[in-house]
Order: sequence, then C-alpha cells, then structure tokens
Amino acid sequence: MKNSEKIFECKNITVSFGAIKALQNISVAFERGKIHAVVGQNGAGKTTFARVVAGLIKPTKGEMVINNTPMLGGNVEKTRLAGVELVHQSFALPPSFTVAEAMQFGAPTGGLFTKRKLEKTWQKHLDRLDINVKASMKIKDLPVETQQAVEIARALVSDAKFLILDEPTAVLSPETTEKLFDRIRKLQKNGVTIILVLHKLKEVLKIADTVTVLRGGKLVQSPTDCANIDRKKLSEMIIGENSSKQLQNDKIDQNKSHISDQMVLKMNGISTVKDVEGARLDNIDFQVASGEIVGIAGIEGNGQRTLVRSIAYLVGIEKGEIFLNNLNVTKNSHLERRAIGLRIIPFERNVEGLSLSASLWENWSIRKYLQSPIFSFIKPEIDKKNCDEALKKWNVKCSSVEQLAGSLSGGNAQKVILSREMDENARLIIAAQPTRGLDIGATDFVWKSLRKAKNNGCRIILISSDLDEIFDISDRVVVFLSGKIVGEFMPPFDIKEIGAAMIGAEI
Ligand code: ATP
Repeated sequence: MKNSEKIFECKNITVSFGAIKALQNISVAFERGKIHAVVGQNGAGKTTFARVVAGLIKPTKGEMVINNTPMLGGNVEKTRLAGVELVHQSFALPPSFTVAEAMQFGAPTGGLFTKRKLEKTWQKHLDRLDINVKASMKIKDLPVETQQAVEIARALVSDAKFLILDEPTAVLSPETTEKLFDRIRKLQKNGVTIILVLHKLKEVLKIADTVTVLRGGKLVQSPTDCANIDRKKLSEMIIGENSSKQLQNDKIDQNKSHISDQMVLKMNGISTVKDVEGARLDNIDFQVASGEIVGIAGIEGNGQRTLVRSIAYLVGIEKGEIFLNNLNVTKNSHLERRAIGLRIIPFERNVEGLSLSASLWENWSIRKYLQSPIFSFIKPEIDKKNCDEALKKWNVKCSSVEQLAGSLSGGNAQKVILSREMDENARLIIAAQPTRGLDIGATDFVWKSLRKAKNNGCRIILISSDLDEIFDISDRVVVFLSGKIVGEFMPPFDIKEIGAAMIGAEI
C-alpha cells in the first residue's frame, strides 16, 4: 500500500491500564475508501483500539499517522481536525435534548441561534443524509435505530473522512441493521473510510471489505480481504483453533428437558399503566411452564420492556393478577419476588444491571443481600471469594474482583450480570438481550447455560431483537405488538408468519 492510500497507520501501539495490557504492540494500516471490520473476543481490545484511533486514549507507547497527520494520540481536537469521528458503543446523546440541540452540541462552531433557525439548519443536514427524523423531536422519544442514525449524523457534521462505529449493530434488529448497512455503503461511495467493530461474523462477511482480528490485546490478523476468508476460518482466528474445536463439540451437549405441567409464571389479564418508555400492557394472559424457554419476538417498543417491568414490580398494574410458583405475588415487592427465584438480565446493563462506580465483588454480592432477610452481615472476604469463582467460571476478563465495573469491556460487564443472575436458586430468568455485545464463544456459553438452567427445571423468558437467536433456543415464541400478545408459535418456527405477526399483517 502506498502512503497516500493509507488513511491510518500505527506502529507498536501499546495501551496499559495499570497491570492490564489492553493493546500490545499493534502495528496495522487501513486502506482509504474501504469498510474495515475489527473483530475479537470480549476484552480483546477493540473498543480501546477504536478510542485510540479517535484520540480519546493516549497510548502508553507507539505512534500513528492519521489522514497524513502524524499523531501521538490522546488529542480529540487534533484527531477531529484530521477528519476522524467515533460513534460510541453506548449512545452519548443527551435524552432531554431535541435532535437539533444534540447536533449543535457536537458542532465545531458555536453562535447564537433561534430555536427555529437551529432546527432548520440541522433538518437540512439530516435530510441530506436521508435520515428520516424531525429535528424538533426529543432524543428520548426516538427509537433506538433513529438515535443511532442521529449519532452518525452528528459524527458527520464536520465532514468526517474516517468514521469509526463501535458495535453499531448490537442494539439493532436485523431489519434496522440492513438499513444501517445501506447507510454505511452510501457513505463509502461518498468517499468515507469506515471502521466497524462487530461481533457477528455473518455481518462482517456481508458488509466489510477487510477484516482485522485482535486477540488478548494483540493483532492476530492484519486487514485481510473478506473475499478470501470464510466464517469457520474467521471464528478460529478470533478464539484460537483449539477453543474453536471445543466450541463445536460442546454444541452437541443438549439434554432433553423434563417438562412438567407446573406453571411458574402465570399472568392473568394483566393491564398496566403507561410505562416510562410509553408502552402499556393490555390484558395479557401469559404463562411459562417448568422447563420451558419462551421467546418474545416483537419490534422494539411494543411492550417487551413493560412486560419485564410488570413481572419485576416496577410498573403500576391496573388490573389482573401475577402468580409466581403458585403464589399470588401481584402486590409483592421486587425483593420478595427475587427471594422466590425471579432473576433478571436487564436490557440496559450499564443502567439497570450494574453500578459502574462500584467494584465487581460489590456488584456481584448485592444479590445475596437483596434476597436474604434484613439482618444479614456483610462478609467481604467470603463475598470476594465467591465472586472470584463465579467470574472465573464465566471467563470474565478482569484484573481482580476489586476492579470497578465501569472499566470492564462491554461483553465482560454483561458476563458479570449473567454470572450473578443465573444462580442455582433461579426459578424464572428473564433474559433481555442476554447476548448483546458478546463474542461468539460467550454467546454459545450463554445459550448453553440457558438450556442447562431449563433442564434443571428453571423457566426462561428470552427477549431478543435477533430472531435467529430466538428461533435457536426457544420452545415457544410469543409475539408482542402494541402491548398485546398477537401470536403464539410452536417449532418449527416460520420467519414469514412471525414477521407478519410482528407488524400486524395478515399472510
Ligand atoms: P467487548 O467486546 O467486550 O466490548 P473489547 O474488545 O472492546 O471488548 P476493550 O473494551 O477494549 O475490549 O477492553 C480491553 C481490556 O482492557 C479489557 O480487559 C478491559 O477490562 C480493559 N480496560 C478497558 N478500559 C479500561 C479502563 N478504563 N480501566 C481498566 N481496564 C480497562
């Protein structure tokens, strides 16, 4: 590659966080005008790499040339001037802002504007990028894919030439992922170079021109043409050949479940008030039997979150009754429900699942104190030991149980929640997007763990925007639309029928 063809080149980039080496001696170059995927297991260093390129982290060692400008890193302003923008893994738009205000917030030039002028200016920018949203709308009222499109629009305010998207598909449904890919291809045609951090290999092979693999902070594969690689080879590179064989053998381990008639969850005619996200449940009759995994399909925002919140006692019930393990718990608190075996893997791990400023062991042990009687003594040494064992079992990459939850990689943070919620006393597990942001090895481990829990008599509600995931492990699929159950399906699942139910169409 000639110098002019490279948009980015780095030599010996190393990033250390205390004892953790997040990146080790990375030397790599990316060609201009292409879509480059960066892949690797959870904790491999992908986000750290993206943040180094975007100027958010100054490497401990090494040098870079970005868009013909030599840099030592750690200077966002200089990096943005060189035409680089990053769209973060977790969205950073202020929820109470309007789209126009959020766009102005990230704009390089300030000034005095009237509200109307601001909206008019940014509406033009959004229209030019084919983003179908009104600049006057509030961020918090937008569906997740529109929020992401606005994030991208904001990144393109200053005519970026090099755009990095960190796990952009993790929060998207398959249909909205397609739309994002169309948008990315259009940007590429307009001369933008793109780095995509991705987990799903199917997506890598669909969208990217090249793929780069990181493992344990090291570069194991420089940008390779996707045309010369297949899924099997790629997964071997990501997890190492030996681990890959183990994964395939493990897949055979699926015992038959021993289904009994005993219901664990019974919702009789449940209607709720309007939830914070705007949806309400409307006369829901729903049961989950022992040894059953029920998949919930639906376009985001159709009551799935309210379903979780109603079972968790976090939204007002207008009418109906909820039974857990044959007990009427309609008026029981969240903690009382936990004490009889309710476990939740929440939608938003950083908000609902973890306290980011607390240590891993505190985050992990909290469940014990939530589920036990009021007078229980905190025993840090025992808690730390138990936490350490659980995190090792789940292969969480961390320096020690004292590490703050906020400094874990996204996938490892999710594994901490899974290790906490999927304990032996769980009777009903609600798994909301349980594999979001997880690498292929960890995803496989979650699926196996859910199946194992089911075989041990646990009941599982799986909510996912990934229909493949739902079809793969559910015994039954229920479709939500506008807060109502509009369809119930048994295997073999027909994607056309379920897809039609999701949008309220007849087929
Ligand atoms: P994922 O797929 O789970 O998002 P990743 O490949 O993006 O993972 P990074 O987020 O780059 O991984 O993390 C790489 C390693 O660096 C992890 O072990 C993580 O715990 C560690 N790390 C990242 N940021 C910090 C920080 N601020 N302080 C301490 N350790 C950190």
